Amino acid sequence: MHELSIASALVDNVVKFANSPPSKKVLKVLLQIGEFTCVEPEQLLFCYSVATRETSIEDSVLEIEQVAAEVRCLHCGYAGPPKYWDDALAAKPVATLECPTCGNATEVTHGHDCTIRTIRYIEQ
Ligand SMILES: [Zn+2]
Repeated sequence: MHELSIASALVDNVVKFANSPPSKKVLKVLLQIGEFTCVEPEQLLFCYSVATRETSIEDSVLEIEQVAAEVRCLHCGYAGPPKYWDDALAAKPVATLECPTCGNATEVTHGHDCTIRTIRYIEQ
């Protein structure tokens, strides 16, 4: 499961951070999630609470900030929001890599990864 592997990688990193001297109590983790990662924030929050269980960051809170996708087309020079594909089976429109102006493949400039923005903590 996508969200679970993201959550465990995230928790690994934060635990490492919390355990490195000076020892810290992590209060809050702010994570940015790009639109192209297709991560369900609610799923990820759930996986986070599971993955932090019985770790030193068990009481920390995960906050998710979604980052809108942006693409760039090398063929026509278009830069901006991606073209959306309305899938009847998906809950919301899916961002595609097709250029909205010329139809060629674009490259993603924003929204293709997950980044830890800030970790709020107190030193113990
Ligand atoms: Zn184009």
